[in-house]
Amino acid sequence: MLRDNLLRTEEKIQAACERAGRNRDEVTLVSVSKTKPIKMLREAYDLGVRIFGENKVQEIREKYELLPKDIEWHMIGHLQTNKVKYIVDKVKLIHSVDSLKLAETIEKEAEKHGCTADILLEVNVAEENSKFGLKTAEVIPFAEKIAQFSHINLRGLMTIAPFVENPEKNRTIFADLHKLYVDIKEKNIDNGNVSILSMGMTNDYEVAIEEGATMVRIGTGIFGARDYSV
Ligand SMILES: *Cc1c(COP(=O)(O)O)cnc(C)c1O
Repeated sequence: MLRDNLLRTEEKIQAACERAGRNRDEVTLVSVSKTKPIKMLREAYDLGVRIFGENKVQEIREKYELLPKDIEWHMIGHLQTNKVKYIVDKVKLIHSVDSLKLAETIEKEAEKHGCTADILLEVNVAEENSKFGLKTAEVIPFAEKIAQFSHINLRGLMTIAPFVENPEKNRTIFADLHKLYVDIKEKNIDNGNVSILSMGMTNDYEVAIEEGATMVRIGTGIFGARDYSV
């Protein structure tokens, strides 16, 4: 199942890149393995997967210990300030920075651990009450502020688009975030390190790629439906 899912996902990513006139290597796939057992991650690893996305600190810590060290772990879920210390030197990228308090904690903990944290700002483009993230208008001032932090590398933006049946409905959200991403790149905030636009999940990643995503986060499409009852 995993092999077929990975192949099918890869084909769809390639087709979306072609439709948009983009190179396949402009888009990084993050395989979202949250809730899935080690055995399944190991199987994906053996099929060549090296970038895994998780949304719980405790789960990252456990999986980090049990799996090979050449894996890139991405923290894609809401991060509480009191848990930053457990993962700041273990994850390759934090997708979900959404407050100054969190950024300040990451700065402090990265300094303590002698590392630099690569981060994305999470943007709630659709301004859904149920979601975390900065409002679009807050992003540039926020980015300018954290560009002065010496242990944080601002690498780009992330959004979780609304859940919709028809992914076309999210196209303008992705286009809006792409526009903001280009603005930030042009302003050269944080010395030109901004090169990641993380948007698109199982249901809408093809549209996201067409609108300029450089990173897609795919869970269900690779590992199958999640079971939260166990
Ligand atoms: C769970 C999750 C995903 C993957 O969702 P799927 O619909 O299963 O592809 C992507 N991004 C974030 C932030 C998530 O929490």
